Amino acid sequence: MSNYITDQAYIRENNLSSVLRLIHSQAPISRAQLAVITGLNKSTISSLVDDLIARKLVNEAGSNSNGAGRPAIMLEINSQAGLIVGVELGVDFVSVAVTDFLGNIVWRRREDANPNEDQQKMIDQTLRIVKDAMGSVKKKNAHFLGMGLATPGTVNLKEGILIFAPNLHWRNVPFRKIFSEQTRLKVFVENDANAAATAEHLFGTARQCQDFLFVFAGVGIGGGLFLNGKLYRGKNGYAGEIGHSPIMAEPSQTVCHCGNRGCWETYANQYSIIQRVQARLEVKRTSIIPKLMAEHNSSLTIPLIKQAADAGDREAIDSFAEAGHAMGQGFAGLTNIFNPEKIILGGPLSIAGEYLLPAIKETMARHSLTEIDQQAEVLLSPFGPDASLIGAIAIVADGILSQPLGGKEK
Ligand SMILES: [Zn+2]
Repeated sequence: MSNYITDQAYIRENNLSSVLRLIHSQAPISRAQLAVITGLNKSTISSLVDDLIARKLVNEAGSNSNGAGRPAIMLEINSQAGLIVGVELGVDFVSVAVTDFLGNIVWRRREDANPNEDQQKMIDQTLRIVKDAMGSVKKKNAHFLGMGLATPGTVNLKEGILIFAPNLHWRNVPFRKIFSEQTRLKVFVENDANAAATAEHLFGTARQCQDFLFVFAGVGIGGGLFLNGKLYRGKNGYAGEIGHSPIMAEPSQTVCHCGNRGCWETYANQYSIIQRVQARLEVKRTSIIPKLMAEHNSSLTIPLIKQAADAGDREAIDSFAEAGHAMGQGFAGLTNIFNPEKIILGGPLSIAGEYLLPAIKETMARHSLTEIDQQAEVLLSPFGPDASLIGAIAIVADGILSQPLGGKEK
């Protein structure tokens, strides 16, 4: 008997989830349209929709008259269902945002972090920003739906533990435990590229797309593989470490943070671009970069190289193009293996997307099978360098879309 009740509750939550996801991806949508798409009868749909409205997850949004018959009442997601806290733990920065249920930012802050400092210091810094964020948006009745944390490296989703982040040299960090104890929020932890892929699917350029790859490019290169409408995690949830696939295995090649040589990311990450520029400056190529560095009292950074490229600096433009060609090799391999509809580039390096994309596309065309290459659209994430920050928000929203009862009845 109790199994029966459990099954009924499970079926109800699954149906609520299906309807909520459809409203999320297709809004505005009517009850009648939901019934057609799901195959559930109209009275079941009405009961499910009423439940979602009572839980303040869905709103009625006026009616849609198409001339014939009674105008249908349209449904949409209630952006005010609650607030979400998102944290992106970068290798050299921490970003925190608070958004509504639809990912619209109401508060944000980014601070540099020192990757060479100890782990506890960076966690304390993050906690301080999260508490500031929660304090600043706390109005009467402010309801937090949860907190998402996007981190480089491999993550144990079930326990919310970072298993290993090669670029941070961190192992076995129990993020969920740490942050839920300190904030009392329901905490979701996910790999940064997987989180960003989820953001593209929920809020970005891949809302209707079932097969796409998200490439996160910054200090490292990570991948979020969205296949058959779902994030592909592999056997233990570690799939998508595309930056560590070897594209060159000569002993003389640069050692990657992971300890291996010849990893794709060592040719295409942000350090590789900085090294390319440095090498050019060392042989005294004509460039405005040294002047810009002096003016800004800055070391050689990607935003500075981008500024030089914008001013027409050949050395900056060529350095980006070289890295773009190296990226294109990786993209070509991914295209041949997965036949994606889209490959979306985001993360810190995407600020130079306009200089990287032409080279990426040219190399892809050369190294992937023609028919497959023509099907894959390569584009920049609308969230640009914030792709994983919005990803941290998206994993909380996705948790609620998957378990509308679990998210609220606590
Ligand atoms: Zn590696």
